[in-house]
Amino acid sequence: MSDNVYSTICPGCNFGCGLYIRENGSLGVDFRKSSPANAGKLCRFGMSLPKFFAPAKSMIDGVETPMEEAAKESAKRISDSKGSAAFLSLGNTSNEELLAFQKIAESYLCTGVNFEALPKDTYQTISIGIPYSEIEAAKHIVLFIDPYEQYPLIVRRLLSAKNKGAKITSVWWKDLTLADENIRPDDISKLALTQDSIIIADFHPLSDTEQVKNVLSLAKNAGAKVTFLKPFANSTGEYIISKDAKQKSLAQLIEDINKGTIKTLFALESDISALIPSDTLSKLKNLIIQAGQASSAKANIVIAHEPLYMKKGTLINNEGRVQALGGSGTKGLDALGIIAGSKFDFNTLHESIKKTIGITVVDEFTIPKYDRPAYGAIQAAPKPVEKKPALIDVYNPFIWFNLADDNDFVELNLNTARALKLLKGGTLKIKSNGSALEKKFKVAPVQDNVLLTGKSLGIEKGIITPVEISR
Ligand code: SF4
Repeated sequence: MSDNVYSTICPGCNFGCGLYIRENGSLGVDFRKSSPANAGKLCRFGMSLPKFFAPAKSMIDGVETPMEEAAKESAKRISDSKGSAAFLSLGNTSNEELLAFQKIAESYLCTGVNFEALPKDTYQTISIGIPYSEIEAAKHIVLFIDPYEQYPLIVRRLLSAKNKGAKITSVWWKDLTLADENIRPDDISKLALTQDSIIIADFHPLSDTEQVKNVLSLAKNAGAKVTFLKPFANSTGEYIISKDAKQKSLAQLIEDINKGTIKTLFALESDISALIPSDTLSKLKNLIIQAGQASSAKANIVIAHEPLYMKKGTLINNEGRVQALGGSGTKGLDALGIIAGSKFDFNTLHESIKKTIGITVVDEFTIPKYDRPAYGAIQAAPKPVEKKPALIDVYNPFIWFNLADDNDFVELNLNTARALKLLKGGTLKIKSNGSALEKKFKVAPVQDNVLLTGKSLGIEKGIITPVEISR
Protein backbone atom coordinates (compact mmCIF):
# COMPACT_ATOMS: atom_id res chain seq x y z
CA MET A 1 0.00 0.00 0.00
CA SER A 2 1.43 3.45 -0.89
CA ASP A 3 1.47 6.20 1.72
CA ASN A 4 -0.79 9.26 1.63
CA VAL A 5 1.05 12.13 3.29
CA TYR A 6 -0.75 15.29 4.40
CA SER A 7 1.08 18.47 5.38
CA THR A 8 -1.17 19.82 8.11
CA ILE A 9 -1.53 21.61 11.46
CA CYS A 10 -1.88 20.00 14.89
CA PRO A 11 -5.42 20.40 16.27
CA GLY A 12 -4.21 20.18 19.90
CA CYS A 13 -4.09 23.92 20.56
CA ASN A 14 -3.87 27.27 18.79
CA PHE A 15 -0.06 27.29 18.79
CA GLY A 16 -0.20 26.27 15.13
CA CYS A 17 2.39 23.46 15.02
CA GLY A 18 2.92 22.10 11.51
CA LEU A 19 3.43 18.37 10.92
CA TYR A 20 2.82 15.58 8.44
CA ILE A 21 0.19 12.89 8.87
CA ARG A 22 1.04 9.70 7.04
CA GLU A 23 -1.72 7.21 6.13
CA ASN A 24 -0.76 3.66 5.33
CA GLY A 25 -3.37 1.35 6.85
CA SER A 26 -2.71 3.12 10.13
CA LEU A 27 -1.83 6.74 10.91
CA GLY A 28 1.66 8.06 11.65
CA VAL A 29 3.05 11.48 12.53
CA ASP A 30 6.16 12.92 10.84
CA PHE A 31 7.99 16.13 11.73
CA ARG A 32 7.74 19.18 9.43
CA LYS A 33 10.94 21.08 10.14
CA SER A 34 10.01 23.97 7.85
CA SER A 35 6.94 24.86 9.92
CA PRO A 36 7.43 28.45 11.19
CA ALA A 37 5.52 27.99 14.48
CA ASN A 38 7.36 24.92 15.79
CA ALA A 39 10.32 24.11 13.47
CA GLY A 40 9.16 20.47 13.42
CA LYS A 41 8.97 19.94 17.19
CA LEU A 42 5.77 18.50 18.71
CA CYS A 43 4.54 18.04 22.25
CA ARG A 44 3.27 14.68 23.54
CA PHE A 45 -0.27 15.55 22.41
CA GLY A 46 0.97 16.21 18.86
CA MET A 47 2.73 12.83 19.00
CA SER A 48 -0.60 11.25 20.12
CA LEU A 49 -2.56 12.40 17.06
CA PRO A 50 -3.22 8.89 15.72
CA LYS A 51 -5.24 8.30 18.94
CA PHE A 52 -7.01 11.64 18.55
CA PHE A 53 -8.08 10.88 14.97
CA ALA A 54 -10.17 7.81 15.88
CA PRO A 55 -12.60 7.53 12.94
CA ALA A 56 -16.26 8.51 13.35
CA LYS A 57 -19.33 7.00 11.63
CA SER A 58 -22.44 8.89 10.59
CA MET A 59 -25.46 7.76 12.66
CA ILE A 60 -29.10 8.56 13.18
CA ASP A 61 -30.40 7.38 16.56
CA GLY A 62 -27.68 4.73 16.76
CA VAL A 63 -28.12 3.38 13.22
CA GLU A 64 -25.25 3.83 10.78
CA THR A 65 -26.20 5.89 7.74
CA PRO A 66 -24.55 7.81 4.85
CA MET A 67 -23.31 11.29 5.83
CA GLU A 68 -25.82 13.02 3.52
CA GLU A 69 -28.77 11.27 5.25
CA ALA A 70 -27.45 12.29 8.68
CA ALA A 71 -27.14 15.90 7.49
CA LYS A 72 -30.68 15.87 5.97
CA GLU A 73 -32.18 14.47 9.18
CA SER A 74 -30.26 17.09 11.18
CA ALA A 75 -31.66 19.85 8.93
CA LYS A 76 -35.17 18.52 9.59
CA ARG A 77 -34.74 18.32 13.37
CA ILE A 78 -33.14 21.79 13.52
CA SER A 79 -36.01 23.22 11.47
CA ASP A 80 -38.57 21.44 13.69
CA SER A 81 -36.99 23.03 16.78
CA LYS A 82 -36.98 26.56 15.38
CA GLY A 83 -36.35 28.98 18.25
CA SER A 84 -34.99 26.24 20.49
CA ALA A 85 -31.84 25.23 18.56
CA ALA A 86 -28.33 26.34 19.53
CA PHE A 87 -25.07 26.12 17.56
CA LEU A 88 -21.73 25.56 19.25
CA SER A 89 -18.28 25.59 17.73
CA LEU A 90 -15.13 25.94 19.80
CA GLY A 91 -12.91 26.69 16.80
CA ASN A 92 -11.53 23.31 15.85
CA THR A 93 -12.05 23.55 12.13
CA SER A 94 -11.19 25.67 9.09
CA ASN A 95 -12.11 29.33 8.75
CA GLU A 96 -14.18 28.46 5.71
CA GLU A 97 -16.32 25.93 7.64
CA LEU A 98 -16.63 28.33 10.57
CA LEU A 99 -17.89 31.08 8.28
CA ALA A 100 -20.50 28.72 6.79
CA PHE A 101 -21.46 27.57 10.29
CA GLN A 102 -21.91 31.15 11.44
CA LYS A 103 -24.34 31.80 8.58
CA ILE A 104 -26.43 28.82 9.78
CA ALA A 105 -26.10 29.75 13.45
CA GLU A 106 -27.20 33.36 13.31
CA SER A 107 -30.00 32.86 15.82
CA TYR A 108 -27.96 31.24 18.63
CA LEU A 109 -24.17 31.11 18.22
CA CYS A 110 -21.88 29.97 21.02
CA THR A 111 -18.09 29.92 20.54
CA GLY A 112 -17.61 28.68 24.08
CA VAL A 113 -15.86 31.78 25.41
CA ASN A 114 -17.47 34.58 27.35
CA PHE A 115 -16.80 37.68 25.25
CA GLU A 116 -20.08 39.12 26.53
CA ALA A 117 -18.53 39.68 29.97
CA LEU A 118 -15.53 41.57 28.56
CA PRO A 119 -15.27 45.12 27.19
CA LYS A 120 -15.68 45.15 23.41
CA ASP A 121 -12.55 47.28 22.92
CA THR A 122 -10.46 44.38 24.34
CA TYR A 123 -11.70 41.75 21.83
CA GLN A 124 -8.93 42.31 19.31
CA THR A 125 -6.19 42.14 21.98
CA ILE A 126 -7.65 38.92 23.36
CA SER A 127 -8.31 37.37 19.95
CA ILE A 128 -4.98 37.94 18.20
CA GLY A 129 -1.72 37.24 20.00
CA ILE A 130 1.71 38.64 19.30
CA PRO A 131 4.33 36.95 17.07
CA TYR A 132 6.48 34.35 18.85
CA SER A 133 9.54 36.23 17.55
CA GLU A 134 8.53 39.16 19.82
CA ILE A 135 8.44 36.79 22.79
CA GLU A 136 11.94 35.58 21.94
CA ALA A 137 13.15 39.19 21.79
CA ALA A 138 11.48 40.28 25.08
CA LYS A 139 13.43 41.62 28.05
CA HIS A 140 10.89 40.52 30.65
CA ILE A 141 8.24 37.78 30.28
CA VAL A 142 5.48 37.21 32.81
CA LEU A 143 3.71 33.85 32.70
CA PHE A 144 0.14 33.38 33.90
CA ILE A 145 0.23 29.80 32.54
CA ASP A 146 2.20 26.62 33.11
CA PRO A 147 3.90 26.45 29.71
CA TYR A 148 5.20 22.89 30.17
CA GLU A 149 1.71 21.46 30.75
CA GLN A 150 -0.56 23.74 28.77
CA TYR A 151 1.23 25.07 25.67
CA PRO A 152 4.49 23.09 25.57
CA LEU A 153 5.86 24.53 22.32
CA ILE A 154 6.11 28.02 23.86
CA VAL A 155 8.89 26.65 26.11
CA ARG A 156 11.41 26.76 23.20
CA ARG A 157 10.65 30.46 22.71
CA LEU A 158 10.95 31.19 26.42
CA LEU A 159 14.31 29.44 26.66
CA SER A 160 15.54 31.32 23.60
CA ALA A 161 14.48 34.63 25.22
CA LYS A 162 16.20 33.61 28.46
CA ASN A 163 19.43 32.79 26.60
CA LYS A 164 19.33 36.32 25.20
CA GLY A 165 19.05 37.74 28.73
CA ALA A 166 15.30 37.94 29.35
CA LYS A 167 14.02 37.71 32.92
CA ILE A 168 11.10 35.31 33.35
CA THR A 169 8.55 35.80 36.11
CA SER A 170 5.94 33.15 36.79
CA VAL A 171 2.62 33.97 38.48
CA TRP A 172 1.45 30.43 39.16
CA TRP A 173 0.59 27.97 41.92
CA LYS A 174 3.78 25.98 41.32
CA ASP A 175 7.42 27.06 40.93
CA LEU A 176 8.47 26.79 37.30
CA THR A 177 12.07 25.75 36.77
CA LEU A 178 12.62 28.15 33.87
CA ALA A 179 11.40 31.18 35.86
CA ASP A 180 13.86 33.57 37.55
CA GLU A 181 11.12 34.69 39.90
CA ASN A 182 8.08 32.71 41.11
CA ILE A 183 5.14 34.69 42.50
CA ARG A 184 1.96 33.03 43.78
CA PRO A 185 -1.29 34.27 42.18
CA ASP A 186 -2.49 35.69 45.53
CA ASP A 187 0.78 37.65 45.93
CA ILE A 188 0.23 39.57 42.69
CA SER A 189 1.14 42.88 44.40
CA LYS A 190 4.78 41.68 44.22
CA LEU A 191 4.65 41.74 40.41
CA ALA A 192 6.65 44.60 38.87
CA LEU A 193 5.83 45.32 35.23
CA THR A 194 7.34 47.84 32.81
CA GLN A 195 6.88 48.78 29.17
CA ASP A 196 9.47 46.09 28.39
CA SER A 197 7.31 43.31 29.87
CA ILE A 198 5.28 40.83 27.84
CA ILE A 199 2.50 39.04 29.71
CA ILE A 200 1.52 35.55 28.51
CA ALA A 201 -1.89 34.37 29.76
CA ASP A 202 -4.57 32.20 28.21
CA PHE A 203 -8.23 32.53 27.26
CA HIS A 204 -10.62 29.60 27.01
CA PRO A 205 -14.22 28.54 27.77
CA LEU A 206 -13.52 28.09 31.50
CA SER A 207 -11.45 31.27 31.94
CA ASP A 208 -12.38 33.43 34.91
CA THR A 209 -13.34 36.69 33.18
CA GLU A 210 -12.33 38.77 36.22
CA GLN A 211 -8.87 37.24 35.98
CA VAL A 212 -8.75 38.00 32.22
CA LYS A 213 -9.76 41.61 32.98
CA ASN A 214 -7.10 41.77 35.69
CA VAL A 215 -4.39 40.68 33.25
CA LEU A 216 -5.58 43.24 30.68
CA SER A 217 -5.62 45.93 33.35
CA LEU A 218 -2.10 45.07 34.60
CA ALA A 219 -0.80 45.29 31.02
CA LYS A 220 -2.57 48.58 30.34
CA ASN A 221 -1.39 50.26 33.55
CA ALA A 222 2.24 49.30 32.88
CA GLY A 223 2.17 49.88 29.10
CA ALA A 224 3.21 46.22 28.75
CA LYS A 225 2.24 43.89 25.89
CA VAL A 226 -0.11 40.99 26.53
CA THR A 227 -0.84 37.85 24.55
CA PHE A 228 -3.48 35.21 25.27
CA LEU A 229 -2.78 31.63 24.19
CA LYS A 230 -5.81 29.49 23.33
CA PRO A 231 -6.68 25.80 23.39
CA PHE A 232 -8.35 25.08 20.04
CA ALA A 233 -6.65 24.78 16.65
CA ASN A 234 -8.44 27.75 15.13
CA SER A 235 -9.56 29.77 18.18
CA THR A 236 -8.05 32.91 16.65
CA GLY A 237 -9.84 32.38 13.32
CA GLU A 238 -13.10 31.69 15.16
CA TYR A 239 -12.86 34.92 17.18
CA ILE A 240 -11.92 37.05 14.15
CA ILE A 241 -14.81 35.64 12.10
CA SER A 242 -17.38 35.97 14.88
CA LYS A 243 -16.24 39.28 16.37
CA ASP A 244 -19.35 41.18 15.25
CA ALA A 245 -21.77 38.28 15.76
CA LYS A 246 -24.15 38.21 18.68
CA GLN A 247 -22.94 35.37 20.86
CA LYS A 248 -24.09 33.47 23.91
CA SER A 249 -21.67 32.33 26.56
CA LEU A 250 -21.23 28.68 27.47
CA ALA A 251 -22.79 29.37 30.89
CA GLN A 252 -25.85 30.83 29.13
CA LEU A 253 -26.08 27.81 26.83
CA ILE A 254 -25.94 25.42 29.80
CA GLU A 255 -28.59 27.47 31.63
CA ASP A 256 -30.85 27.52 28.54
CA ILE A 257 -30.57 23.74 28.10
CA ASN A 258 -31.32 23.21 31.80
CA LYS A 259 -34.35 25.54 31.57
CA GLY A 260 -35.60 23.70 28.47
CA THR A 261 -35.51 26.75 26.15
CA ILE A 262 -32.80 25.03 24.08
CA LYS A 263 -33.84 21.54 23.00
CA THR A 264 -31.52 20.91 20.05
CA LEU A 265 -27.78 21.46 20.12
CA PHE A 266 -25.65 21.27 16.99
CA ALA A 267 -21.94 21.05 17.83
CA LEU A 268 -19.38 21.46 15.06
CA GLU A 269 -15.98 19.76 15.58
CA SER A 270 -16.24 20.23 19.34
CA ASP A 271 -15.97 17.51 21.96
CA ILE A 272 -18.45 18.94 24.45
CA SER A 273 -17.92 16.30 27.15
CA ALA A 274 -15.22 18.43 28.81
CA LEU A 275 -17.51 21.47 28.93
CA ILE A 276 -21.17 20.57 29.35
CA PRO A 277 -22.23 18.33 32.28
CA SER A 278 -23.74 15.01 31.17
CA ASP A 279 -26.97 15.64 33.15
CA THR A 280 -27.41 18.87 31.11
CA LEU A 281 -26.76 17.06 27.83
CA SER A 282 -29.32 14.40 28.79
CA LYS A 283 -32.04 17.12 28.85
CA LEU A 284 -31.61 17.78 25.11
CA LYS A 285 -34.12 16.33 22.67
CA ASN A 286 -31.48 16.29 19.95
CA LEU A 287 -27.72 16.40 20.24
CA ILE A 288 -26.20 16.63 16.77
CA ILE A 289 -22.45 16.33 16.43
CA GLN A 290 -20.64 17.05 13.18
CA ALA A 291 -17.03 15.95 13.37
CA GLY A 292 -14.09 14.34 11.61
CA GLN A 293 -13.23 12.05 14.52
CA ALA A 294 -15.08 10.10 17.20
CA SER A 295 -16.54 12.16 20.02
CA SER A 296 -17.05 10.89 23.57
CA ALA A 297 -20.50 12.57 23.90
CA LYS A 298 -23.57 10.43 23.13
CA ALA A 299 -25.24 12.08 20.15
CA ASN A 300 -28.64 11.44 18.56
CA ILE A 301 -27.12 12.25 15.18
CA VAL A 302 -23.47 12.08 14.15
CA ILE A 303 -22.46 13.68 10.87
CA ALA A 304 -19.04 12.17 10.20
CA HIS A 305 -16.74 13.51 7.51
CA GLU A 306 -13.05 13.89 6.78
CA PRO A 307 -10.67 14.62 9.67
CA LEU A 308 -8.97 18.01 9.88
CA TYR A 309 -5.77 16.87 8.16
CA MET A 310 -7.76 15.95 5.00
CA LYS A 311 -9.67 19.22 4.82
CA LYS A 312 -9.20 22.04 2.38
CA GLY A 313 -9.08 25.43 4.08
CA THR A 314 -7.17 27.68 6.43
CA LEU A 315 -6.53 28.10 10.15
CA ILE A 316 -5.14 31.12 12.01
CA ASN A 317 -2.69 30.47 14.81
CA ASN A 318 -2.14 32.41 17.98
CA GLU A 319 0.22 34.87 16.30
CA GLY A 320 -2.38 35.64 13.61
CA ARG A 321 -0.43 33.53 11.09
CA VAL A 322 -2.73 32.15 8.37
CA GLN A 323 -1.93 28.50 7.64
CA ALA A 324 -3.29 26.29 4.86
CA LEU A 325 -4.53 22.81 5.69
CA GLY A 326 -2.97 20.40 3.24
CA GLY A 327 -6.00 18.39 2.17
CA SER A 328 -8.66 18.75 -0.51
CA GLY A 329 -11.73 17.54 1.43
CA THR A 330 -14.89 19.62 1.56
CA LYS A 331 -17.32 17.04 2.95
CA GLY A 332 -17.71 19.03 6.17
CA LEU A 333 -18.68 22.07 4.12
CA ASP A 334 -21.03 19.94 1.98
CA ALA A 335 -22.81 18.72 5.14
CA LEU A 336 -23.22 22.31 6.35
CA GLY A 337 -24.68 23.16 2.91
CA ILE A 338 -27.32 20.42 3.34
CA ILE A 339 -28.23 21.87 6.74
CA ALA A 340 -28.35 25.43 5.34
CA GLY A 341 -30.51 24.27 2.41
CA SER A 342 -28.04 25.56 -0.21
CA LYS A 343 -24.53 24.45 -1.10
CA PHE A 344 -21.59 26.52 0.15
CA ASP A 345 -18.94 27.43 -2.40
CA PHE A 346 -15.47 26.96 -0.89
CA ASN A 347 -13.82 29.64 -3.05
CA THR A 348 -16.39 32.30 -2.13
CA LEU A 349 -15.91 31.58 1.58
CA HIS A 350 -12.12 31.52 1.19
CA GLU A 351 -12.07 34.91 -0.59
CA SER A 352 -14.30 36.35 2.11
CA ILE A 353 -11.88 35.12 4.82
CA LYS A 354 -8.88 36.66 3.02
CA LYS A 355 -10.76 39.95 2.71
CA THR A 356 -11.61 39.94 6.44
CA ILE A 357 -7.95 39.39 7.33
CA GLY A 358 -6.73 41.83 4.66
CA ILE A 359 -4.53 39.42 2.66
CA THR A 360 -4.45 38.40 -0.99
CA VAL A 361 -2.48 35.16 -0.61
CA VAL A 362 -2.11 32.59 2.16
CA ASP A 363 1.54 32.54 3.18
CA GLU A 364 2.35 30.84 6.48
CA PHE A 365 5.76 32.55 6.58
CA THR A 366 4.32 36.07 6.77
CA ILE A 367 2.13 37.28 9.62
CA PRO A 368 -0.54 39.70 8.33
CA LYS A 369 -0.67 43.16 9.86
CA TYR A 370 -3.57 43.43 12.32
CA ASP A 371 -4.87 46.56 14.02
CA ARG A 372 -4.03 46.45 17.70
CA PRO A 373 -6.28 49.18 19.08
CA ALA A 374 -5.74 50.42 22.63
CA TYR A 375 -8.45 49.55 25.12
CA GLY A 376 -9.89 51.68 27.93
CA ALA A 377 -9.41 51.42 31.69
CA ILE A 378 -10.71 48.17 33.19
CA GLN A 379 -12.07 47.44 36.64
CA ALA A 380 -11.35 43.87 37.69
CA ALA A 381 -12.12 41.99 40.88
CA PRO A 382 -10.36 38.60 40.70
CA LYS A 383 -11.20 36.29 43.58
CA PRO A 384 -8.18 35.23 45.66
CA VAL A 385 -7.84 31.49 46.32
CA GLU A 386 -9.19 30.84 49.82
CA LYS A 387 -6.73 29.55 52.36
CA LYS A 388 -8.56 26.21 52.28
CA PRO A 389 -7.54 23.20 50.18
CA ALA A 390 -8.32 23.77 46.51
CA LEU A 391 -8.07 21.57 43.42
CA ILE A 392 -6.79 23.54 40.42
CA ASP A 393 -7.22 22.18 36.90
CA VAL A 394 -4.29 22.87 34.64
CA TYR A 395 -6.19 22.68 31.37
CA ASN A 396 -4.12 21.08 28.60
CA PRO A 397 -4.87 19.48 25.22
CA PHE A 398 -5.54 16.05 26.78
CA ILE A 399 -8.26 17.52 29.04
CA TRP A 400 -9.87 19.63 26.30
CA PHE A 401 -10.13 16.63 23.97
CA ASN A 402 -10.99 14.04 26.62
CA LEU A 403 -8.06 11.94 25.44
CA ALA A 404 -6.56 9.30 27.75
CA ASP A 405 -3.42 10.60 29.45
CA ASP A 406 -0.86 8.84 31.62
CA ASN A 407 -0.53 11.80 34.01
CA ASP A 408 -2.97 10.27 36.46
CA PHE A 409 -1.90 11.99 39.70
CA VAL A 410 -2.32 15.26 41.55
CA GLU A 411 0.58 17.44 42.66
CA LEU A 412 0.88 18.89 46.17
CA ASN A 413 3.75 20.21 48.27
CA LEU A 414 5.74 18.58 51.04
CA ASN A 415 4.07 20.67 53.81
CA THR A 416 0.63 19.50 52.69
CA ALA A 417 1.80 15.87 52.35
CA ARG A 418 3.35 15.97 55.87
CA ALA A 419 0.31 17.63 57.43
CA LEU A 420 -1.89 14.84 56.02
CA LYS A 421 0.70 12.17 56.97
CA LEU A 422 0.61 10.84 53.42
CA LEU A 423 2.65 7.74 52.76
CA LYS A 424 5.11 7.54 49.86
CA GLY A 425 3.52 5.52 47.06
CA GLY A 426 0.08 5.83 48.72
CA THR A 427 -3.01 7.73 47.69
CA LEU A 428 -4.86 10.86 48.73
CA LYS A 429 -8.63 11.11 49.37
CA ILE A 430 -10.29 14.12 47.73
CA LYS A 431 -13.91 15.12 48.47
CA SER A 432 -15.98 17.79 46.78
CA ASN A 433 -19.53 18.44 45.64
CA GLY A 434 -20.75 15.25 47.31
CA SER A 435 -18.21 13.08 45.43
CA ALA A 436 -15.12 11.39 46.80
CA LEU A 437 -12.19 9.79 45.05
CA GLU A 438 -8.70 8.51 45.70
CA LYS A 439 -5.73 9.62 43.64
CA LYS A 440 -2.03 9.01 43.45
CA PHE A 441 -0.02 12.10 44.32
CA LYS A 442 3.34 13.58 43.50
CA VAL A 443 5.23 16.04 45.69
CA ALA A 444 6.16 19.22 43.78
CA PRO A 445 6.94 22.87 44.64
CA VAL A 446 3.27 23.83 44.78
CA GLN A 447 1.53 26.43 46.99
CA ASP A 448 0.41 25.15 50.43
CA ASN A 449 -3.02 23.46 50.36
CA VAL A 450 -3.19 23.48 46.55
CA LEU A 451 -3.64 20.33 44.46
CA LEU A 452 -2.81 20.63 40.78
CA THR A 453 -4.31 18.24 38.25
CA GLY A 454 -3.59 17.90 34.54
CA LYS A 455 -6.46 15.42 34.20
CA SER A 456 -10.13 16.14 34.79
CA LEU A 457 -11.26 14.32 37.96
CA GLY A 458 -15.00 14.80 37.34
CA ILE A 459 -15.65 16.71 40.58
CA GLU A 460 -14.56 20.15 39.39
CA LYS A 461 -16.59 23.34 39.32
CA GLY A 462 -14.49 25.55 37.04
CA ILE A 463 -10.72 25.99 37.30
CA ILE A 464 -10.57 26.24 41.11
CA THR A 465 -12.63 23.80 43.18
CA PRO A 466 -12.66 23.87 47.01
CA VAL A 467 -12.01 20.35 48.30
CA GLU A 468 -11.49 18.38 51.50
CA ILE A 469 -8.37 16.23 51.54
CA SER A 470 -7.24 13.41 53.80
CA ARG A 471 -5.07 10.31 53.83
S1 SF4 B 1 1.83 22.72 21.35
FE1 SF4 B 1 -0.32 22.58 20.69
S2 SF4 B 1 -0.27 22.65 18.43
FE2 SF4 B 1 1.83 22.18 19.15
S3 SF4 B 1 1.99 19.92 19.11
FE3 SF4 B 1 1.34 20.52 21.20
S4 SF4 B 1 -0.91 20.47 21.17
FE4 SF4 B 1 -0.21 20.46 19.03
